[in-house]
Amino acid sequence: MKCYCCSGLDYSQCCEPLLKGQRQANSPIELMRSRYSAFATNNNNYINQTMAKKAAINQESNANSPPVHWAGLDILQSPPPRGDHGEVVFIAHYTLNGKKYSMQEHSLFEKISGKWFYVDYVEPH
Ligand SMILES: [Zn+2]
Repeated sequence: MKCYCCSGLDYSQCCEPLLKGQRQANSPIELMRSRYSAFATNNNNYINQTMAKKAAINQESNANSPPVHWAGLDILQSPPPRGDHGEVVFIAHYTLNGKKYSMQEHSLFEKISGKWFYVDYVEPH
């Protein structure tokens, strides 16, 4: 089957090894895609394990969110990381109570002890 993250790759060749802990994300975009797949498969452990700093502090507020069905991912920008810092701008599509929505986010990533984490996002203007 094709991966949840809309990469066009097979799940087993894309996000599955990351979600199963068989290997780590090599770049912000890989981590971002795997986190989307984790949301799509309700893999809360993976979602929690890949957050640090401000993102990890803010995670409580998401705990009681209503269930959504993740329906697709569009990557708008994923420039090469600068040192230990990276960013990805994306639109995630989802349905909630039968209605279609999409959310755009400018996510920030940081490499800490050799491992990429989602750390924060840029507030929309
Ligand atoms: Zn994937």
